[in-house]
Parts: sequence; C-alpha cells; structure tokens
Amino acid sequence: MKRALFLTTPGQEDYVRKCAQAVGPVAVGVFANATMHTPVSVTEEALSVVRERRVDGVVAIGGGSTIGLGKAIAWRTDLPQVVIPTTYAGSEMTPILGETADGQKVTRSDPRILPETVIYDVELTTTLPREAAVASGINAMAHAVEALYAEDRNPVVDLIAVDAISALYDSLPYLAESQKAAESSEKALYGAWLGGICLGSVSMALHHKLCHTLGGMFDLPHAELHAALLPHTLAYNGPAIPYVIDKLGKVFKQHDPAQSLFEFNQQLRVRAALAELGMPKDGIEPAVAAVLAKPCRNPRPLEREALIKLLKRAYAGAHPAP
Ligand code: NAD
Repeated sequence: MKRALFLTTPGQEDYVRKCAQAVGPVAVGVFANATMHTPVSVTEEALSVVRERRVDGVVAIGGGSTIGLGKAIAWRTDLPQVVIPTTYAGSEMTPILGETADGQKVTRSDPRILPETVIYDVELTTTLPREAAVASGINAMAHAVEALYAEDRNPVVDLIAVDAISALYDSLPYLAESQKAAESSEKALYGAWLGGICLGSVSMALHHKLCHTLGGMFDLPHAELHAALLPHTLAYNGPAIPYVIDKLGKVFKQHDPAQSLFEFNQQLRVRAALAELGMPKDGIEPAVAAVLAKPCRNPRPLEREALIKLLKRAYAGAHPAP
C-alpha cells in the first residue's frame, strides 16, 4: 500500500490517528465512523473518501464493526485489507460480510471480502471494556458451536471448534473479573481466531440466522445478542444433535450444555434478556416470520410455534427449554 485509509469506530479514533501518524505519508486519512451491522450508508460515505484520496488499501483497527467496513469497501473495490482486531468477534478470519439497509441484514460470502493480512496483538484487546470483551468472546464461541453441527462440517473443523470453545470457556471468566489479564486475553484471542476460522469454513444455521434477523430488524447489540440467544438455539437443536451435546457436555463438564451456556452468561454478568437489549416484545412474531420467509438449513426443522417459544424465553431472560 502507498495510500492507505485507516478505519475505526469513533471510540477508538484517538488511538488509530496515532497509528496513522506513525506510518507517515502512507496513511492518507482516517475514517472513524465504522458502525455496528455495517450500514450501507456508512460504507458509501467511506467510499467517497476512498475515491477522493485515491486510496489503494485499507487498514482496519477495531472490532467486527470496523472490520466489516473494511470488508464492505474491499467487496466493492477489491482493495487489499490489513486488519488488526481489537475484540474477540472473529470476523477477520472470514470471507463473510453482513450489511444492513432498510432494517434488513444481508449476508454474502466472497473471496474479495477475506482480509489479506491479519495482525493479532493481544495488548490491543486489554483496553476493551469488560462487557464488550466477554460478549464478543461468546460471539466467537457461537461460531464454533454452530460449526459442530454444520451440514458441511468436517473432522478438522470439529477439532478447531472444540479447541475454540474450550479456550473461550476457560478464559472469559477471568476477563469478566479482570484477573490474569495478559494470560486470559491471549487465550481468548486464540479462541476467537479459531472461532473465526470455523465461521469462515462451514455454514452456519438457526443461531446466526436469528442473530442477523433480530440485529438487522431492531438494531440490537450484536455480541450480546449472540450471548442471549446461544443457550436457547442450542436447546432448540439439542434433540437433533446428540453427538454435539455429548461433545459440549465434555467441554463444559455438565450433561446439559444449553444450561451450561445460560449459567456461563450469568457468571460473566452478560445482559442476556432480549428485553434488556432493547428488543420490542411485539417484534417476536415478525422476527419469526422473517426467519421463515428466508429459511436456513438447520439440524432441526424450523417450526413457527417452537421458534416463538424460543424467542419468548430469550426475551424474558428465562432458562433455555429443558
Ligand atoms: P464492535 O466492533 O462494534 O466494537 C464494540 C465497541 O467496542 C465499539 O464502540 C468500539 O469502539 C469498542 N472497542 C473495540 N475494541 C476496543 C478496544 N480494544 N478497546 C476499547 N474499545 C474498543 O464490536 P464487535 O462485537 O467486535 O463487532 C460486532 C460487529 O461485527 C457486528 O456488526 C457483526 O455483524 C460483525 N461480525 C461479523 C463477522 C463476520 O464474519 N462477518 C463475525 C463476527 C462479527
């Protein structure tokens, strides 16, 4: 790159401006308006800077929102991306882009979207606020959990997924308590990397479908949404995936892994009721209708009444269905 545009969110702007200054004239600008769920309107704003300043590559420093903006630019321009992740969401490892316009999140996969270079630096995650750290870690765990029952799963991805889940399950409680910071951040970032590989390698199912649908419709916080739904989507699929329940039971050392995930949220003090995240109660039925209008493959068929029950439980922050 000779004319790089640095990308980030408003909250990380000061730090990223310093990074841009440090590389000298190669940095031709900083665009610090990356936004959760990658709104197309923000991408268009950034693209006008790309054109004006004859940018020949992007450097994304931030979490999934910043990385999403870099991917959205790359998908449209094929510019190379250097990505430096600062959360545990795992987006940097995938050729997947989820973009939002008119309350709908559309997901696509394309080789142009996959970042060319990723630099992991554990130190950059240590400034993450506690809530954002643990929630983004569960986001990465969700990629690995869904990989275990993906219809195109394979034994290598299975191994990666189990290692990702174990690393995150071991490290997030320390991050939640701000203990053993360096060691736990390193383990969590390792888990996030592996979780991202899972997401980039095999197809996701009901859990990601629900998160994208609700996130796009009601602009809910992405990582917390994953945390809130994961126990419930696993409980929904449980009867259809006994081999996964068995594997997860061994990692969590409890026979009901959906219940373990629910308790894990409580231990991490994650906001885990959709009501708390700002979902309107009368949004449950429209959300299920939207899921069923464009269904995904899933180990258990998508059943309207059961999905409504699932969302009602998640809305109230209740235990997952036994
Ligand atoms: P985020 O990028 O929205 O960051 C959350 C907040 O934390 C922001 O305000 C940011 O400024 C701040 N922040 C980030 N890193 C920080 C740090 N080290 N120190 C202090 N503050 C920091 O959160 P996220 O959970 O990483 O990303 C969510 C987005 O990522 C969603 O839009 C989601 O769709 C997307 N995502 C995409 C994929 C994919 O493969 N396409 C995978 C996972 C997530």
